[in-house]
Amino acid sequence: MKLSLTGLSVVAILACSLSVQAAGKDLLLLTTPDADAKLATRVQQFCSTELYSLAVQVKPLKKDADSAWPVLSKVLASTLGKDDLAAVLLSSSAVNSNTITLSSNAPVAVVNLKDPRKDGKADDELYARWIERESMRAYGLLLGVKTCPNPQCAMSDYKVKPESLSELGRNYCPYCKKCLGEQLKAKGIVIPEPKRVRKVGP
Ligand SMILES: [Zn+2]
Repeated sequence: MKLSLTGLSVVAILACSLSVQAAGKDLLLLTTPDADAKLATRVQQFCSTELYSLAVQVKPLKKDADSAWPVLSKVLASTLGKDDLAAVLLSSSAVNSNTITLSSNAPVAVVNLKDPRKDGKADDELYARWIERESMRAYGLLLGVKTCPNPQCAMSDYKVKPESLSELGRNYCPYCKKCLGEQLKAKGIVIPEPKRVRKVGP
C-alpha cells in the first residue's frame, strides 16, 4: 500500500478487496500427509493476498507424495482441475537439493521444505516467511513471470536463506507484479483495479 501525506488528508491507494471474478480459476497448494497445517494455511493466505486475491485452495495429496520426480510430476498434474491455474506441493521429501522443482510438462512445482530450524538457523517465523517467499516464486514461475534481477523481489533466483530474510522481500517488485497481472489477463482473469480512497484525519 502506498501512502502519501498532504496536509491533513491521506490519500491511500488500496488494493481492492474483491476476489478475482473468475469462478474456478484457482491455485492449488498441495500438502503431504505429514504437513504442518498451520504453515500451509499461512502460505495459502499470504499467496492469495499477494497474487491479486486469486483463490488458493489447500488440498492434501493422499498418495505418491514420496514418488520419484517423473512419477510425482504426473501425480501433481493429475490434481489440476480443468480451470485450475497451477499447483504447488509443499514437501519435506526432497526431490533434489533445489528449493523449487518445476515440471516442464504441466504448471506444477514442488517447494522443498528443508528445515533449517533443526540446525538452529531459523526460528518458526523466519522459516514460515522463507516458505512464503519460495511459494510466491514457484507460483510466479508457473504463471509465466520471469526470474527477476532485483534481489529484493520474490522472483529473484538469489539463493535466499531464512536467516537473510529479514533484509529480503517475500513480495514481487512492481515490475513483476505488473507482469503477473498481464499473464493473468491473458488467461482471461479479471484483475480488480486499485481503488483510490480519500480519508480525512490526522
Ligand atoms: Zn521482480
